[in-house]
Amino acid sequence: MKIPFVDLKSQYQSIEQEVKEAVIKVMEQANFILGEEVKLFEEEFARLCEAKYGIGVASGTDALHLALLACGIAEGDEVILPANTFIATPLAVSQAGAKPVLVDIDSLTYNIDLSKIEECITLRTKAIMPVHLYGQPVDMDVLTNLAKKYNLWIIEDACQAHLAEYNGRKVGAIGDIGAFSFYPGKNLGAYGDGGLVVTNNAQLAEKVKMLRDYGQKVKYHHLFKGFNSRLDTMQAAILRVKLKYLEKWNSLRIQHAQKYSELLGGTEVITPTKAPYAKHVYHLYVIRTKQRDELQKYLTDKGISVGIHYPIPIHLQKAYEDLEYKIGTFPITEKYANEILSLPMFPELTVEQIEMVVNSIKEFGQ
Ligand SMILES: *Cc1c(COP(=O)(O)O)cnc(C)c1O
Repeated sequence: MKIPFVDLKSQYQSIEQEVKEAVIKVMEQANFILGEEVKLFEEEFARLCEAKYGIGVASGTDALHLALLACGIAEGDEVILPANTFIATPLAVSQAGAKPVLVDIDSLTYNIDLSKIEECITLRTKAIMPVHLYGQPVDMDVLTNLAKKYNLWIIEDACQAHLAEYNGRKVGAIGDIGAFSFYPGKNLGAYGDGGLVVTNNAQLAEKVKMLRDYGQKVKYHHLFKGFNSRLDTMQAAILRVKLKYLEKWNSLRIQHAQKYSELLGGTEVITPTKAPYAKHVYHLYVIRTKQRDELQKYLTDKGISVGIHYPIPIHLQKAYEDLEYKIGTFPITEKYANEILSLPMFPELTVEQIEMVVNSIKEFGQ
């Protein structure tokens, strides 16, 4: 009995024929950079996100980076983000030349603690980056009011939250601009790297479009120093096939999460809390326990693959020692980094597999 953390092979088998046809079509047309498939995917994905514009880029990290640049974030600026996130969130800020300013997380949602943002705002603060971590949206009304009060951009890191909803609205373009990742293991994953920026702001959309393509709108007319960061046409073709299944795959994730939570009721592990305003899309199903390391080893030895997202908070990463945060600065983030454990989560997971995981947790003595 082996249970993987994600199962990309079984997903491929379920759509094999369609993907092969899409890939062959791109090769036959030999139109490998931008073109129709990218344009159609951008339109289709943006429409599903209830956003006016979608711009395909090379990765989720680039989507964040180019979104920051489009907002004019530059050296000397400060950008507020949670201490518990994937390293790409602060890296994008650093790439833009700005300084990441970290905030502790909320003990129930595991997202940025909205009550602790205001005290971090300075004259240099230009933007807030909410991260809809694990697929659970941040409370965007509270955040929007705060951003309005201080005239700050909201740049959403929706890389784990494809089609998640805040009070019935899709995340990504609730703020000024938002970033998605199509890293293979994400809720919508390409067969390689990929990313996309969504926005309702025509100027920001235009700027990102040029930034990803050498700073040009008309070929060989470079209006500023841009990048080569385009979504691959091959990936766009694959993503168009997979996009048709995204709602169904998200529903399955939600069902699996409910099953886990139901079966884990009565044990000592702490199951995720869905915020009342949220449609949580469970990119990850994260539990907490004081005996995390022992449980991780127990499950791994039994052939059940688990993960930790993330074991080292941003402020304790060597890469960010220049920010000079001390241990103890973000108590919830630090406590949770030692207690969180991500259980296997992917649409193709079966009830039997979920039962096996839960039974193993019970055998371990939780
Ligand atoms: C995956 C991810 C990213 C980066 O996306 P890539 O496509 O891997 O560059 C950024 N932020 C978060 C929260 C992510 O999970």
